[in-house]
Amino acid sequence: MAQVTALMEEERLNVTALHPQHDELTPAQYPPLSRSSSPAIEINNLVVSYGKRRAIEGLTLVVPRGSVYGLLGANGAGKTTIIKTLLGFRPPNGGSVRVLGYDVVRQRLEVCARVGYVSEENSLYTYLTIPQICAFCRDTSRQWHQDIVDRYLRLFDLPGNAKIGKLSKGMRMQLALCLALGNDPDLLLLDEPTAGLDPIARHTFLSTLVGDIASEGKTIFFSSHILADVEAVADWVGILRSGRLVLSGELDTLKQTHKLVRVTYAELPPESELDALRALPGVVNVEQEGRSVRLRVRGDADALATSVQERPYALRDVEVVNLNLEHIALAYLMEGRP
Ligand code: ATP
Repeated sequence: MAQVTALMEEERLNVTALHPQHDELTPAQYPPLSRSSSPAIEINNLVVSYGKRRAIEGLTLVVPRGSVYGLLGANGAGKTTIIKTLLGFRPPNGGSVRVLGYDVVRQRLEVCARVGYVSEENSLYTYLTIPQICAFCRDTSRQWHQDIVDRYLRLFDLPGNAKIGKLSKGMRMQLALCLALGNDPDLLLLDEPTAGLDPIARHTFLSTLVGDIASEGKTIFFSSHILADVEAVADWVGILRSGRLVLSGELDTLKQTHKLVRVTYAELPPESELDALRALPGVVNVEQEGRSVRLRVRGDADALATSVQERPYALRDVEVVNLNLEHIALAYLMEGRP
């Protein structure tokens, strides 16, 4: 059962609903695991509140099967809340959430049987050894593949009989991932999986995600603050700001549709010219440094560069510059900040 780390974490919150629920169904009564072709995640107009405070505000998001989706957002943006809602820990206050085709409120057992989860806090029982935690997971899971777990334990070179309390933070994160893979999940939900890992542990973790897990066709949905990690492994990216999704799409498409046009004027351009540039279609932002003006563009940057060349001012140069994810994301993350 991949939700064991979640169970341990949620125990503190008195959330036991992800537990195997043997009282509800015996393993023989479980319906067969189906692999439908619905998106891995479909969130429609989701609202989640803590008391009177809204943490998620009308969020709509689709994650295709087989993708590696990186969710970026500042502290408090709502990343953990979304992941907890996907697992059924937090019931939506509005909207709908489907995971692997199942409604997270009405079909939580189905969701839990097919999802692997690694939490931010990663609170595994520290007094257990690795074989003991594996046995615990096996006994509380609908299906358990110790061979898969052993393969990843070997890959991460984790010490076979060690007590969890004696493992480093990075090793615990690796163990949590191994356990999350034990039920051969179709979807992995990882909440800031690389936070606090050293560069080597980060590299091993990320290359395992892409090289082994994603290449098997599993969907990975992970949250992160680390732009470089998202750029390294994600093929889809979402940017969350104050509970709202301000950008979502395939990384390659986002890079094609977000560019910088650098314009160098022969003379210092007047303010009216800068206003005219701001009004051109697709221009998101205009920054001026003397005769040099930078236009952040969403859409067809080449067409915009042509429009700029047709302006009635002498130009020295017009150049279209590609942006990396960091440049694109920072602009969205910082929008509206002083
Ligand atoms: P971080 O990157 O710091 O982990 P996050 O993007 O994961 O942040 P959340 O933990 O989802 O953000 O929090 C979103 C908002 O909901 C924040 O304003 C937070 O204060 C609030 N919040 C989260 N959990 C609770 C809770 N249990 N009770 C009340 N408010 C909460």
